[in-house]
Amino acid sequence: MVESDATDLSEKEEIILNKYASQLTQTIREPLLVLDKKLRVLSGTSNFYSSFKLEENSINGVSVFDLNEGQLNNPDFRSTLEEVLKTDEGINNKIIEIDFREKGKKQVSLNVSSIWSPVKKRLLLVSLKKLKGKNKISKKKLVFNQVFENILSKAPAAICALRGPDHIFELANENYIELIGNRDIIGKSVKEAVPEASGQGFIELLDKVYTTGEPYIGDETKIKLKVGENKFKRSYLNFVYQPIRNQQGEVDGIFAHVVDVTEQVEAREKAQKSQDVLSEVIDAVPAIIWITDNEGMSTFLNKKWYSYTGQNIEEAKGLGWLKPIHPEDVEDTKNAFLEAHSQQKDYSSSFRLLNKRGQYCWVLDKGSPKFNAAGEYEGMIGTVIDINDEKIKENLVREKDHRLQGIVQEATVATAIYTGEDMNIELANDAMIALWGKDKSVIGIPLYHALPELDGQPFLDILRNVLKTGEIYWGKEEKVDLMIDGEMHTGYYNFTYKPLRDKNGDIYGILNMAIDVTDSVKSKMLLKESEFHFRQMADLMPGMVSKTDAKGNDIYFNKNWLDFTGKSSASLREIGWIEYIHPEEKNTFIKEWENCIDTGCNLEMQLRLKNKEGKYIWHLSRCEAVKEDDGSVKMWIAANTEIDKIKEEEKRKEEFLKMVSHELKTPVTSIKGYVQLLLSLLKKQQEEAETSKLPLKPSLERINHQVTRLTRLISEILDLSRVRENQLELRNEEFSLNDLVAETIQDINYTNTQHKINLESEMQCNVLADRDRIGQVIINFVMNAIKYSPGSQNINVKITREDKNRVRVGVKDFGIGIGAENHKKIFNRFYRVGVKSEETYSGFGIGLYLAKEIIERHNGDIQLKSKLGEGSEFSFILNATQITS
Ligand code: ADP
Repeated sequence: MVESDATDLSEKEEIILNKYASQLTQTIREPLLVLDKKLRVLSGTSNFYSSFKLEENSINGVSVFDLNEGQLNNPDFRSTLEEVLKTDEGINNKIIEIDFREKGKKQVSLNVSSIWSPVKKRLLLVSLKKLKGKNKISKKKLVFNQVFENILSKAPAAICALRGPDHIFELANENYIELIGNRDIIGKSVKEAVPEASGQGFIELLDKVYTTGEPYIGDETKIKLKVGENKFKRSYLNFVYQPIRNQQGEVDGIFAHVVDVTEQVEAREKAQKSQDVLSEVIDAVPAIIWITDNEGMSTFLNKKWYSYTGQNIEEAKGLGWLKPIHPEDVEDTKNAFLEAHSQQKDYSSSFRLLNKRGQYCWVLDKGSPKFNAAGEYEGMIGTVIDINDEKIKENLVREKDHRLQGIVQEATVATAIYTGEDMNIELANDAMIALWGKDKSVIGIPLYHALPELDGQPFLDILRNVLKTGEIYWGKEEKVDLMIDGEMHTGYYNFTYKPLRDKNGDIYGILNMAIDVTDSVKSKMLLKESEFHFRQMADLMPGMVSKTDAKGNDIYFNKNWLDFTGKSSASLREIGWIEYIHPEEKNTFIKEWENCIDTGCNLEMQLRLKNKEGKYIWHLSRCEAVKEDDGSVKMWIAANTEIDKIKEEEKRKEEFLKMVSHELKTPVTSIKGYVQLLLSLLKKQQEEAETSKLPLKPSLERINHQVTRLTRLISEILDLSRVRENQLELRNEEFSLNDLVAETIQDINYTNTQHKINLESEMQCNVLADRDRIGQVIINFVMNAIKYSPGSQNINVKITREDKNRVRVGVKDFGIGIGAENHKKIFNRFYRVGVKSEETYSGFGIGLYLAKEIIERHNGDIQLKSKLGEGSEFSFILNATQITS
């Protein structure tokens, strides 16, 4: 549409326009003006002229602002018209004030609309209606309305003012109009303008506020508003209905202040919904979850907390969750939590939490700070989990650790515990510190710092390996160099490195226990050394030397043994040297040897040993026990000395003696016969001749005595060879032992005048034996007693009962006696105790040998009790056939 100025109009057009304008005004009773675009009056209603006291049509063509000397030259009026011209949108019921001169200023309701005339000119229809009566708005109100429009129209809230009991919309800002779907509401009642409100209780509310004068505050109240044909929108409103009072204080309207909170409510509902889902999830989690606000106060705990503790939501709020914590743990927990909260840091605490069954269980409580997108701290979020079982285990481990520490501290064995890769000395008892030659300052520092001298020794590597592999290390007699008092000392130790494991089985350290075995190692070394010397010596010795352990197991053979047998040391050990003994001596030797091992007594025996050519060679075998300080046998040393040549000589001697004895026996016997014949002849003659001047008798008696001795010697030598050749024959006859002893003593008394032989018989007894041989034994005992007790006179012979069937004959002297070392040997052939004055006691060392042989062949026992210098008692025991007391 092309618009031109009214001045551009042709005359004709101008007539049409004016006519059109007056047509508009003629039928309208309201005061109305028709203005052209330049706001000049084209026409006015008669009501307008009368209202403004103007002559009809006098003002046509005059600018509206010049009327009545500028009565309408009012800025409000001007701006309203200009606004309508600009926007082409009309204005309804705008209240303005117009100065009516003598009548004063009056309120006028202004309505302006823009219309197009038939000549395509824009016209403004301006209605100015004086406000009267109840519709008249007080000046105060007017100002308020203007303020309302100017200020509140731009307010973020939806605002309206309702007047009268019907709640007529008097004012509404843009937000309000928009809220109710841009409806035309001014001047209309609420019921009329917003009919849907009545079904939702709003009219009732307004009525109530109006009648009671009490304001009403609606909070997130739901309302359904019509926003189009059959179109409703659900909204949530926060609103205030504030009663408006007139000057008299009566309620004459309601001010409604409405904030549309639909978005928030919906967002919150949405959030709530998702939160509901979240809390369902959270409640399903098998742990306690908690959330605090930025003040550190608990705002959320999932169901698990309540079911665990039995608390309710109220009780747990804020710091209420601390209540079910064990009194001993609550302070620490509270402090830990508040500290973490204030520093906005991670939090962790373990404590005993009272469950609803009244038991305290260990739990682990852990939390982290949460921050919003802007990085602001919003509080903490965390979990609580039950660790009761673990805690109990941990306590056990701790207790065990504690016990371990106690054990270590108390242990007399040097003990230390190292932890970590560095082998930190966690613990070392006094014994270990003393062993190291250090002081307590080593505790807590790595082993290689505490004992730098270990550098270059293998122990640190071994320890690391134990830590790595978990295998125990046993050190046996290992050499350790330790710096003690500034000097390097070498010691030997038995020790263990045992890995220590925590409750998960992971190795966290090593337990080291050590025993100082330096002395034992050193003495072993000495022993080795002395053994070496022994071997050297043994190899150099002419005899065959061997060594056995305490139980008689062969350990060592010297070189001569190896040469003699042609065997290696190992095979000799395997065979055993006893196998080399001649069968005739072997059993006796084994018997004796077993006895030695049992009793620890030494052994001496002549035996034949087989050499590598299979030939038996005579040896004197001596086995001597090497004893410990406490007397127990440590080992045996056996020395075999070759005596084959001596044996040969002995044999020859025996043969010579046998031969000589045989040769001598006949002449000596005949000499003895003749001497005895001479003695008996002499006796007869003396009886007849009474006296003889020649000392024939004493000479003959001496010859007889010497010949008796010679005869006995010869028979002993002959007996010896008989024994050797196993030809000693024994007769068996029963006789009275008492008689035999008495007779023998009597016989001896004939020739012996120096000694007094006392006989004491406890009882009478008979024996079954060879009477001469037993007599020979008694003679030997008594003659020896005489011979070896030159300084004393008494010899006591006693016949006593040994036990039920046995009898003992003892011959006791008070002479030179025999040392214990010779007690056994004197029964050996040719053995004589070497005394300085050997010459004094002549003899061959045959008598006791024969006595022993004779008694043992009678199944009897021969015994000796003697002490050197104190005399001897020789006795024999025989089975008795009859004993009478
Ligand atoms: P002989 O007396 O001829 O030497 P025996 O065989 O009778 O031979 O005695 C062996 C050894 O025992 C003697 O040499 C002597 O040393 C010792 N002997 C025997 N009887 C006694 C005794 N009553 N007192 C001290 N020593 C004795």
